[in-house]
Amino acid sequence: MEGCIFCKIINKEIKSEVVYEDERFVVFKDINPQAPIHLLLVPKKHISSINEISDEDEKFLDGVFSVIKKVATDLDFANSGYRVVINTGKDSGQEVLHIHFHILAKRRFSWPPG
Ligand code: 5GP
Ligand code: ZN
Repeated sequence: MEGCIFCKIINKEIKSEVVYEDERFVVFKDINPQAPIHLLLVPKKHISSINEISDEDEKFLDGVFSVIKKVATDLDFANSGYRVVINTGKDSGQEVLHIHFHILAKRRFSWPPG
C-alpha cells in the first residue's frame, strides 16, 4: 500500500535486517529493539490490523505459527521462551498500520504488561 513503511520494507525500498523470508511472510529486526531479540513478522499482504482481517486474509496468514516456531528454533530462543505481541488500535499504541507480530526474546518479561 502506498506510503506504508512495512510494504516498503517488503519491497526492499527501505533496508531492513531480514532473518527469514518466504512467499507470504518476512521477519526482520525491529529498528528500536525492546529486548535483546526483537523481531517483526509481517505478512507480504497489506492488512491494517486484526480488525481488518478477511476470510481470504486468514487463509493468507495460515502457517504463521510455523514461521514463529522456525525462527524461534533457528535463532535459539524456543527453549528459553519468548513473547509474541500484536498491537491493535489506539489503546495498544499500534503505530504502523500494517499487521505485524512482535517477537521478543532473551530477557524476562513482566506480566501484566505495561
Ligand atoms: P507498533 O507500535 O505499530 O506495534 O510497532 C511498530 C514497530 O515498528 C515499532 O517497534 C518500531 O520500532 C518498528 N519500526 C518502525 N519503523 C521501522 C523501520 O523503518 N524499520 C524497522 N526495522 N522497524 C521499524
Ligand atoms: Zn503495508
